[in-house]
Amino acid sequence: MEIQRRKSKVIKIGKVRIGGLNPIAIQSMTKTKTADVSKTVKQINQLEDAGCLIVRLAIKDFTDARALKEIKKNTNLPLVADIHFDWRLAIAAVENGADKIRLNPGNIDKDSQIKEVISALKYAGVPLRIGLNSGSVKEHGAKRTRMPERLVRSCLGYIRKIEKLKFDNIVISLKASNALDTIAAYRKISRVCNYPLHLGVTAAGSVYKGIIKSSIALGVLLSEGVGDTIRVSLTDDPLEEVRAAKCILESLGLINNNIQIISCPTCGRCEVNLVSVVKELEQKINSTLSLKTAGPLKVAVMGCVVNGPGEAKEADMGIAFGKSAGLFFNQGKMVRKIPFKDCVKVLLREIEKIK
Ligand code: SF4
Repeated sequence: MEIQRRKSKVIKIGKVRIGGLNPIAIQSMTKTKTADVSKTVKQINQLEDAGCLIVRLAIKDFTDARALKEIKKNTNLPLVADIHFDWRLAIAAVENGADKIRLNPGNIDKDSQIKEVISALKYAGVPLRIGLNSGSVKEHGAKRTRMPERLVRSCLGYIRKIEKLKFDNIVISLKASNALDTIAAYRKISRVCNYPLHLGVTAAGSVYKGIIKSSIALGVLLSEGVGDTIRVSLTDDPLEEVRAAKCILESLGLINNNIQIISCPTCGRCEVNLVSVVKELEQKINSTLSLKTAGPLKVAVMGCVVNGPGEAKEADMGIAFGKSAGLFFNQGKMVRKIPFKDCVKVLLREIEKIK
């Protein structure tokens, strides 16, 4: 099955294009103090190595805004300035090289302030994300409007104000803290405008719960063709956010330059330590720059001959283990037996040959 992507407007964030049929870009956010330039640069560069394409930074004062200039000199990823409460920080961030500004309509909504920010964005050719969160969305009209409607209504009101200023370099996010409201809000907005959508669940939680919640919400939306860039918000290391986002895109066939490892869960029939093999293989692929984008490639690592040969034949290459050795398959054909201790080495060598 192929996903039919929603045809959204193309927006350029630094060197990265989102929207249209551009690849869905993975985003994350630094968790360092932005003004601590060396720590922030280090984290951005780690995020880039992990596969992040766009990074957002909290700009809570003018020191943070000014730090963007130095951070930009030492990093490659487009920088998104996350602005709340003080519209003047948006202008300072643009002046210091921000590639996109995120404004929260819940705390910056005066017409005069929006006008100033939009005029700075127009001048610099920088796009705006209208980023609503369920925790800060304002009531519009009836007090007890359901959350998805509140998010959509508030967003459309903000868009109208900005379009009146003849500005349409816009990205939208409508993040609720639960999967169902998030899905409903994005579905609604996707039907009434064609701005690209930044998908995410806000305050999704710790790594385990947050990944599951985000996978459900983002998985449903992406499978319907909705979404142009994603962030998996986690109360954890931002590298986990990027790994999770990659896995979501991979599961839906929306990433096509990676190496996908297919491995069985093991059971009483398995005679080898498959868990350690898969962990080692994944770790080596993730830490080898040239392999991270060496795909598309499917590598099967299977615990026994029940399903092993079938999956290994279906993949580009694979191993089906027996007692202390594995049958190695390449392009659907059984090639030879490999001792257990050599299997990771052999797989990596064969992957290198293909890429
Ligand atoms: S492939 Fe074999 S070891 Fe793996 S889960 Fe299936 S039966 Fe068990």
